[in-house]
Amino acid sequence: MENKRFIEVAPSLPLHKTLYYHVPKNLRQSMEPGKRVLIPLGKRKITGYVVGFPQKVRVKEIKDVLDILDISPLFNRDELGFYHWVSNYYFSSLGEVIKTALPQGINIETLQTLSLTKKGTDLLASYDDNQLTSNILTEIGQKKEVSLKYIVNKFSADNPYALLFRLRDEGLINIEFKEKRKRVCPKTEAWVQQEIDALPTEDLTRIIGTLERNAPKQTAILKHLLDKNKVPIHSLRKEFSNPWKSLRGLEEKGLISITQEEVYRDPFGEEKCSRICPPILERRQEAVLNRVIQGIKSEKFSPFLLYGVTGSGKTEIYLRAVEEVLQLGKEAIILVPEISLTAQLLSRFRSRFGNNIALFHSRLSEGERYDQWRRIHRKEVKVAIGVRSAIFVPFENLGVIVVDEEHDTSYKQDERLRYSARDLALVRGKLTSSAVILGSATPSLESYYNSQTGKFVPLSLPTRIENRPLPSVEIVDMRQEVRRGFSDCFIFSRKLIDAIEETLLRKEQILLFLNRRGFASFILCERCGSIIKCPNCSVSLVYHLNVKSLYCHYCDYSMQVPDRCPECNDKAVRSFGLGTESVALEVKKVFPNARVARMDRDTTTRKNSHHRILKSLENGEVDILIGTQMITKGHDLSRVTLVGVVSADTSLGFPDFRASERTFQLLTQVAGRAGRGDLPGRVIIQTFNPGHYSIQQAKSHNFIEFYKEEINFRRELNYPPFSRLVNFRILGNDRKKTKEYADELEEITKDLLERNEKYRSQMEFLGPVVAPLEKLRGKYRWQMMVKGQNPDLLHSFGKEMLQKSALRIKGKGVTLSIDVDPINML
Ligand code: ADP
Ligand code: ZN
Repeated sequence: MENKRFIEVAPSLPLHKTLYYHVPKNLRQSMEPGKRVLIPLGKRKITGYVVGFPQKVRVKEIKDVLDILDISPLFNRDELGFYHWVSNYYFSSLGEVIKTALPQGINIETLQTLSLTKKGTDLLASYDDNQLTSNILTEIGQKKEVSLKYIVNKFSADNPYALLFRLRDEGLINIEFKEKRKRVCPKTEAWVQQEIDALPTEDLTRIIGTLERNAPKQTAILKHLLDKNKVPIHSLRKEFSNPWKSLRGLEEKGLISITQEEVYRDPFGEEKCSRICPPILERRQEAVLNRVIQGIKSEKFSPFLLYGVTGSGKTEIYLRAVEEVLQLGKEAIILVPEISLTAQLLSRFRSRFGNNIALFHSRLSEGERYDQWRRIHRKEVKVAIGVRSAIFVPFENLGVIVVDEEHDTSYKQDERLRYSARDLALVRGKLTSSAVILGSATPSLESYYNSQTGKFVPLSLPTRIENRPLPSVEIVDMRQEVRRGFSDCFIFSRKLIDAIEETLLRKEQILLFLNRRGFASFILCERCGSIIKCPNCSVSLVYHLNVKSLYCHYCDYSMQVPDRCPECNDKAVRSFGLGTESVALEVKKVFPNARVARMDRDTTTRKNSHHRILKSLENGEVDILIGTQMITKGHDLSRVTLVGVVSADTSLGFPDFRASERTFQLLTQVAGRAGRGDLPGRVIIQTFNPGHYSIQQAKSHNFIEFYKEEINFRRELNYPPFSRLVNFRILGNDRKKTKEYADELEEITKDLLERNEKYRSQMEFLGPVVAPLEKLRGKYRWQMMVKGQNPDLLHSFGKEMLQKSALRIKGKGVTLSIDVDPINML
């Protein structure tokens, strides 16, 4: 029996240490690691996670735990080990990691309520003096049900906690948890069961006789229920409209019983699926799968990089690997980028694994997510498919983790806990001795490098299924188009227009890709040259035609389009640049008879709009779909034979060492959308940089050649994978204070460098400098990028920096955030 007098708690706060509390005797029995507790911290009461039982505690004043919030633990020892790793690596507090790992909304947004028990009510009647106990009981009694907080505040002078718990233990009051605003709690559904089987036959005949005369609807419902077990009440609605009143009648007569049963919210919605026979694997797939199965069966950590062109049958490999894992009685996590979690992908998994799947994506409601999490926690399912947060699901016997499109930047969370789910998949795989499959048609430079140096096992599927051809890619030099004076709008080249026309004639479909939504990318005054910018962010505002407003794509700030330049008051304000909206408009002008749809963040704000647009494309209701990178992923659209990239240049100019990589990935992904079916595909890329290697290699679908060029550049400049980066970012409300703090950061750095020779010789420091986006959502931003090869050294530097800066940063309205392995360089 462990000594449960004290517990170690990780509070759900950005506090970089754990805290110790004393456990009152009455709570000891049910105290366990992995449960949440309510703890006092300063004047507040907050949620914390029990992470252990220390034998001795050397703290002067130790406070009591107030309550235990869970009946069973939410995480086990192995998961805790994983959380510790994450917390250390990403410089995040353990409590924040656990909070991220558990479903949102379960935390004490819950409210404790008090009410009198029968005993308490009786006692109150016989009380008449003016003691604290009677005052509190009276207050509770008058209010019938009241929040704990209310009572604690009202009687705060008397610090009533201990007393309240004593009253509960004496059976005078109930203390219960109620979800505040009912954020998440189990959903229930009413079921009905007939109770007349137990009655003697003559009674039954008599009852039904009376019933038939007075209440025909009740009779009909009762007869309907006769030969059935319990049924959900909503199932009666098909035959009986508004059955509730009759049901209540039957219940009062004792002929049926109505119960509330817990049900799961179903995030799969209408998307039903049939079982499809899995295809016979091709020889190459067979070889890849065998290697993966070997890894799974070894029960050792086995990391794979599966490089396979679009349509080469990677998903089929994932499905088989999961099947194998299930046969071994183990569990599987499949991570996918947000936008590729399409109905199509889901129905493929559902057709193999039926309801054995939990699903996680950001459009689930908190309640739906909570239900999915509980299905795993209760061991009701063995497969989880989801976006990055699914890496934390509470499986205890993992066999494989799949990371599809492993290069996708959405695996990196860009706020609070800045983790990479792709990297954590490898960590979790290692901790649980599982196989990890990273798959992509355009692997990240880091992963491919790792597959070349022996860190990952390289696997490849270099051709499409059934040797279908990859689409032919043509590049149009827009500089020449402009010179020839053809393209006054700069939107379409002659070649693209001709190709669209031919495709429309053949009654096939077209995707047009542009990586920017809106109508015009900026508004410029032609007289003084000033561009209208967002007041909160240092970026230009984008003109959106259908709402006739300027929008900031970072903070959603919006304003009317001014008639005059705000700087010089001249009328020469004009819009420049392209967006999906202006492309759509132009398409309608040039092809008035084509049916056109647009898919970007503006047109997909509603829950299923994304699916609906794709469905209309699939059903042949749309000829031309125009969109941002949302259209580049996931769907297998067999009638799309032409893909046009309106401008390949938007991503090339980014001040980011990954700009070429992003461009190559984007172009390859979007090109991969063409010719997925039996019809051959064609891709036309318009660009002002036709010679750039990321565009040239995308033309020949040649990842390997692209890799060879790009890796040299990385080596020369000592960028990842040859080094690791940590970005120290300073954010502040005030420009001057933010700069002052950046200066201090520099001083601290100098100081640390002076005292540690290794920091001096093995690390590179870039900055502190103003971040490329100087202002974002109202915050001024500075950053210092640190480069190094030795992760331990980077970490000890980070820890020291954090400690030293915490002392100096206090009260300046400035925060320091640390981004390990940053993806967002802006
Ligand atoms: P990827 O994930 O690499 O894009 P998929 O696994 O989606 O490739 O395969 C592309 C298409 O080929 C899908 O429609 C899939 O059902 C089909 N497919 C996969 N493997 C086979 C096979 N062995 N035989 C026939 N069709 C296959
Ligand atoms: Zn803004």
